[in-house]
Amino acid sequence: MFWADRVAHDLKKRKLPLEWVDDMKTPSGKIHVGALRGVVIQDLVYKALLDQKIKAKYTYIFDNHDPMDDLPVYLPKEKFEKYLGMPLYKIPSPEEGFENYADYFAKDFIKVFEAIGCSPEILWSTDLYMSGKLNTVIKECLDKADIIRDIYSKVYKKKLSDDWYPFQVYCPNCGKASTTKVNKWDGEFVYFKCRVDGVPWTKGCGFEGKTSPFSNRNGITGKLVWKVEWACKWKVIGVTVEGAGKDHMSRGGSHDIASLICQKVINYPIPYPLPYEFFLVGGKKMSSSKGRGTSSSEMLEILPAEILRFLMVKTRINQAINFDPSADTIPKLFDDYQEASDAYFSAKGRSASGGKKTDRDLARIFELSQVGKLGKPPKRRFSVLVQWVQMPNLADRIREEKLEEWAKYAKVWLERYAPDSAKFEIAQKIPIEVEKLNKKQKEYLKKIIQELDKKWEGEDFQEKLYTLAKEEGLSSKEAFLAIYLSLIGKDSGPKAAWLILEYKEFAQKRFQDVSSL
Ligand SMILES: [Zn+2]
Repeated sequence: MFWADRVAHDLKKRKLPLEWVDDMKTPSGKIHVGALRGVVIQDLVYKALLDQKIKAKYTYIFDNHDPMDDLPVYLPKEKFEKYLGMPLYKIPSPEEGFENYADYFAKDFIKVFEAIGCSPEILWSTDLYMSGKLNTVIKECLDKADIIRDIYSKVYKKKLSDDWYPFQVYCPNCGKASTTKVNKWDGEFVYFKCRVDGVPWTKGCGFEGKTSPFSNRNGITGKLVWKVEWACKWKVIGVTVEGAGKDHMSRGGSHDIASLICQKVINYPIPYPLPYEFFLVGGKKMSSSKGRGTSSSEMLEILPAEILRFLMVKTRINQAINFDPSADTIPKLFDDYQEASDAYFSAKGRSASGGKKTDRDLARIFELSQVGKLGKPPKRRFSVLVQWVQMPNLADRIREEKLEEWAKYAKVWLERYAPDSAKFEIAQKIPIEVEKLNKKQKEYLKKIIQELDKKWEGEDFQEKLYTLAKEEGLSSKEAFLAIYLSLIGKDSGPKAAWLILEYKEFAQKRFQDVSSL
């Protein structure tokens, strides 16, 4: 059984009136593709729940109230450095047309996950605070600060001081959050200081004062520290299922803290956990602040939506995705997608009892990888498309066979990642390498010229090329070498028959010239 179906099966047993699947992210910059894996994983569980007729809901929270504690390399330092330490929703957007910094990066990410078929309801942490819904748990956590200190001390084996509180004030004087430290709670107000040298990345203003920790429609006065906040959001929203990357899920990680907060402070059942492995790009787990090449929106430049989704659906949740676009990863991904489609469209794959388990799983993977209407992918192999996009005469054929969409990505792959062996170009002048050809090979070319007066289909002509080679006493390798060297100046190339037929007149003349040398 596909893993998400097994999870849904498991969840069905607890008979909750509603399963609430949730995920969240701080939109502090371009969002790394690793976060996209989380969105897809929760989406799969959500859809598997619906498939088993379980009432379910899926939300995605953007923590737009978190402070900016790092400046992404692709943003101008002189413009944004002054905002370090401030809540993201108070920082201007890098581009016009967005409400603020958080809004800008969140919407870039939403665009990508919607493109790959995930449509969770979007929630913003600022709304959650300003709705006043969190106030009760904020009070509870401040009242039970000693228990929370104890939890931290036990998990991290390091004692927290008695004046530590799980709350961070937004300084009313300088607007920063990273710099403040609460040191007292009297049941009504938190007392705090905005420390000048509290954090290494920005300076505080030194302001000292007190404020109510409760937010309302008029604004937010501060926030819970995030591990505590995580648990509180579960309770306030009613989350029952939430996955997280293995860094959060490891022993002593943030999930452990949040779980203990649920049990010992706010009395809420821990949501069903879904620990998942990393999404690595070229072997590295890149952070969103490091820039190019790994952001979610950049992935859609190199893969069509259904293939990007497929990559994440097909990989087991406990297995890292190591995506290396420079190797043969991309062509193989397209081939695997076609194979999954075959499993789905063959009766064996679709029936619950028939076929091998792997076929059934593969069929389900294909089904869950769809981003729009379920349909058959192109039949042509990606490797063939890579050849076709290099032959201008095949543009019509690409159109006729409705291959334009995938052809677009074949071009991108050629430009960015393909090895030289995958590239070819018709040699406008006779390549110097044809000197290597012997008499038999030249005779072979002459015979091809004669055949070209007839009408040919690709497959038949390919057969003919083999037969002619035999007649001439050439191995197929020697024979094809003559063709490739003459036309593209390389030892190998795309399927010879199609190459010759597409450039028929050109090939005739070239073979004539080469054979008479
Ligand atoms: Zn301040």
